[in-house]
Amino acid sequence: MGVVAFVHDIGIRRAKSHDKRTEGTESGSGINSNSASPSLATPAKRPNCLIIKQHVEPVALVHNLQRYYVLLCHQCLQAEILCERVAMFNLYNPEEIRDRARAAFIGMAIGDALGATVEFMTASEIATKYGTFKDIIGGGWLRLKPGQVTDDTEMALCIARAIVKSQGWSPVAVAENFATWLKSRPVDCGDTCRKGIRAYMLKGQLESPPNEWDAGNGAAMRILPAVLFSLPDGELLKKYVLEQAHITHNNPVSDAACLCLGQLLHMAICGASKNRLSRHVDDLVTRFPTFNFVPYRGLATGYVVDTMQTVFHWFFRGRSFEECLVGTVNQGADADTTGAICGMLAGAYYGMAEIPKRWIKKMEPKVIAEIEVMVERLIAESPLGRNR
Ligand code: MN
Ligand code: MN
Repeated sequence: MGVVAFVHDIGIRRAKSHDKRTEGTESGSGINSNSASPSLATPAKRPNCLIIKQHVEPVALVHNLQRYYVLLCHQCLQAEILCERVAMFNLYNPEEIRDRARAAFIGMAIGDALGATVEFMTASEIATKYGTFKDIIGGGWLRLKPGQVTDDTEMALCIARAIVKSQGWSPVAVAENFATWLKSRPVDCGDTCRKGIRAYMLKGQLESPPNEWDAGNGAAMRILPAVLFSLPDGELLKKYVLEQAHITHNNPVSDAACLCLGQLLHMAICGASKNRLSRHVDDLVTRFPTFNFVPYRGLATGYVVDTMQTVFHWFFRGRSFEECLVGTVNQGADADTTGAICGMLAGAYYGMAEIPKRWIKKMEPKVIAEIEVMVERLIAESPLGRNR
């Protein structure tokens, strides 16, 4: 396959250039087309060194690797970063990516169904009633059947169906599906989501006006179809994730959470390590210190900052899919949504084999069946699927 050959290619070129102790630029080797990529850093200041497109998001860089040959050097920091990215790229395997994508979507639905039982309870109420809560049993304030999902999964499916039906990205199709869903009297719907969908129904509004109060987790919880459909292109990811978000939530903190989560999912699906993912979260915390989750404050409300702190805390602390998810939902509060988000991230990271069978068995078969079909279609129609 092209990708494997390509990584192999880098290895050869790197060895060659070091053997020859090449001075100055590598452009004479003819493997880099400067016209195709004017922003490539010139290697002039780095003898023996690398040509690297700087300041691009890791996922975009992975994508660019397919297009631009990159020379590596062991002697500078950036080369180290790049080496890791190449290692990550090396793991690129269509079967594995599909498995992780399925696990992300099914993990999301499981987190939703599991957490919904204890939504709006406090951590200590959960501990008193259940000890450690860890089975899908339905109930909760919505009086759900065991395995029934809520707005989190349903809105994600609305986005997935819109992409598949329009055979491409269409915010109108997404908003239409949200409207149809809202009219079907769903089991629940967040206030900000409802407000945004109503504005679409009344005025055809596809972008809510910016609002400092709309920093709920409603845009982040449903991003997964946008993530899968953009694989592995960081620019498309940004466009899709934010356009679906802004139908109901137009807020810089929500945007930052959505983008970071989307990038983490791209990376996890491509096989990135927890170390790598944790450094990406560090970048978010540098730009938005409010997301700092060390020490963990234990808040898991629908405010996207609390939600993401809880997800980050339990995702990085857990040693299995189950541990991540159980830790998350036992914080209570907006447990179905923290569960859904942690479920997609942990699913993407651990893959299908790590999802407990007892949880999959409890899920509504119809929902799992639709998820399977949607994931196949989203991946097949993504840049990754189409370039194969
Ligand atoms: Mn919900
Ligand atoms: Mn919720």
